[in-house]
Amino acid sequence: MSIADNIKSFKSSLPDGVTLIAVSKTKPLEDLQEAYDAGQRIFGENKVQEMVGKQEQLPEDIEWHMIGHMQRNKVKYIAPFVSLIHSVDSERLLEEINKRAQQQKRTISCLLQVHIAQEDTKFGFSLDELTTKVLEEFKQKYPHASIVGLMGMASNTDNDEQVSSEFGELKHLFDRLKNTNPQFDTLSMGMSGDYKLAIAAGSTHIRVGSALFGSRNYTI
Ligand SMILES: *Cc1c(COP(=O)(O)O)cnc(C)c1O
Repeated sequence: MSIADNIKSFKSSLPDGVTLIAVSKTKPLEDLQEAYDAGQRIFGENKVQEMVGKQEQLPEDIEWHMIGHMQRNKVKYIAPFVSLIHSVDSERLLEEINKRAQQQKRTISCLLQVHIAQEDTKFGFSLDELTTKVLEEFKQKYPHASIVGLMGMASNTDNDEQVSSEFGELKHLFDRLKNTNPQFDTLSMGMSGDYKLAIAAGSTHIRVGSALFGSRNYTI
């Protein structure tokens, strides 16, 4: 199957209300252009430099989503154009995004990344830490960083029950916070290996790379 075929079959099979983010990290411009020509407009990247380089060379109506851990000193490079940052994993990063967005006279939409996997990863807020009160505080302190939802990654395991339960926990927190934050509309969860479970658990945005573009070769 070609990239164009993959895009088309994904789009036609997704339920209403679920948005596909084509994760194009490490892939060459030609691959992104092929996806674009097949109608894809939202692309996810995890490295600032790579995103900036691609953004300069591809059509202007692409929405660029940052999905990877960011160093604060790099926010300024994507602040002029990024559509959504999924991977806001600390208050200090949020503060920097707010500052750079303000300089650009814009508001940048953000998702707070929540640590739901059993695996020990370094990044993300914990499920308990994100309360209505904390969110209210962030909104007041960082008006140019608009928090529109949550992002999470489940454990990398074949145990579907565990993955579903982790997605379920995130959905539960999302619903709780949405009660007092009507602007909450984005729950980013699910990748190539687990997007079906994520959708079943209530995901609104899936981040799919290898199932669209083929496996990545990190050694080049
Ligand atoms: C790479 C990546 C994806 C896509 O992974 P695939 O398994 O290739 O679909 C999704 N989310 C994040 C945060 C990633 O870094």
